[in-house]
Amino acid sequence: MKVLKFGGTSVGSVQRMRDVAELIYAPELRRIVVLSAMSGTTNTLVQITRLLHDGDLTAATSRIEIMRQDYHMVARELLPDETVAAAALKQLDSIFRAIFDLTRQPLSASGERVILAQGELLSTYLFHQYYTGILQREAVLLPALDFMRLDADDEPDAPYIREHLAAQLALHPELQLFVTQGYICRNAQGHIDNLKRGGSDYSASLIGAATDATEIQIWTDIDGLHNNDPRVVPNTYPLRELSFDEAAELAYFGAKILHPSSVLPARQYGIPVRLLNTMQPKAPGTLISSKTGQEAIKAVAAKDGITAINVKSSRMLLAHGFLRNLFEVFERYRTSIDMITTSEVAVSLTIDNATHLPQILEELRRFGTVEVDEQQTIICLVGNLVQANHGSAYRVFEALKDLPMRMISYGGSPNNISVLVHTADKVQALRALNDGLFRTAPPSTFSKTEGELALKKLLAGS
Ligand code: ADP
Ligand code: ASP
Ligand code: MG
Repeated sequence: MKVLKFGGTSVGSVQRMRDVAELIYAPELRRIVVLSAMSGTTNTLVQITRLLHDGDLTAATSRIEIMRQDYHMVARELLPDETVAAAALKQLDSIFRAIFDLTRQPLSASGERVILAQGELLSTYLFHQYYTGILQREAVLLPALDFMRLDADDEPDAPYIREHLAAQLALHPELQLFVTQGYICRNAQGHIDNLKRGGSDYSASLIGAATDATEIQIWTDIDGLHNNDPRVVPNTYPLRELSFDEAAELAYFGAKILHPSSVLPARQYGIPVRLLNTMQPKAPGTLISSKTGQEAIKAVAAKDGITAINVKSSRMLLAHGFLRNLFEVFERYRTSIDMITTSEVAVSLTIDNATHLPQILEELRRFGTVEVDEQQTIICLVGNLVQANHGSAYRVFEALKDLPMRMISYGGSPNNISVLVHTADKVQALRALNDGLFRTAPPSTFSKTEGELALKKLLAGS
């Protein structure tokens, strides 16, 4: 079994859906295709829920109606067969009627999640209709809501997913292609929920783990995981290989190409993950596996929305049990800590979920003086930072010498150095690190064709 996930841009238009249908066509191979919502759809659904929370019913209903008409247009173009199109328009209308129905009463948290789930239900339905109704190829639409589930801690319930997905697949022993929704799931109460924004990657990895897949492919709009954020840094390049640990760190610390938790299930079962580009299907992309390369620093990522907390306590810091008491405060409020640094009299730590910040601060004040810095960004550098590869920290600090750093963390793992800066300095920091650490792409990042071309030129003496 292989799992192939296509992101929002990859299914973002009629032509893209047609391209995906060709890309996945391989009659001999059993595959599960996981689709995101068409690009822009989840954002629009979020916008609709915000309008409803603000009580702006007129704007919300007009946004829903525009979306309904847009989807009608997609269906008419994608499904050039009257019977198939008529059935699809009926189905689309029933989906949009369900959304309209939710506008008639104050929007609850569970109503909001029902609205957010519609994007993946729409894209998979249309794609499946095209694949079976127009291309006349065989595929079954697997409802993710029947097998993808969270446990009471809101974590994926792996045994449940494995058992229920296997039961669904067993209903079609001869079939090679299954299509399902990314992102959406049910929670422990059985209500519709989701795996957080960008969660289709996580769905694909969970499905890969649940089916003992031989490979998980994440198809997106870029040729693999780049050494730095290509949205704000010029001259980034794709990495050919990453270890599970390196990819997990980069995803967790902000490389948007992967959902923060999406590497974990694949790593647990040792399933290789390939990041591929739908627009350039022949590009080699990035392979994430248990292998690690030798480069001291391979890539940089940045995670915004961080709050730094400093607790100063001359009385207690050296006393044993102090750190445990401190950590227990965060545990009580189910708030995880990302970075931590200590001195003899103070501890600094960072959190990315500030929901319970007021209560946490109140409790921390019992230990000493507490200071808070908001709008911080963690810059995470990932690579093979074993002691033999010394000098990496020096190069990082040299590159960042003109910027104020709030915290530095080194040595926690052999593949990570993290630095905390003010979010206003993020782009400058990422660019400075790119200039200082990765001035040229290593030869391993050339694609085969580029490599062949270079070799030909060399042999031709040019
Ligand atoms: P999809 O909709 O296919 O899930 P995403 O938008 O979630 O795609 O992720 C792909 C985008 O991630 C790229 O277009 C790129 O702008 C952004 N990105 C951020 N950091 C990186 C990185 N280190 N490597 C590659 N892409 C990155
Ligand atoms: N559609 C969801 C989102 O936009 C999930 C995904 O695309 O991965 O966040
Ligand atoms: Mg994504």
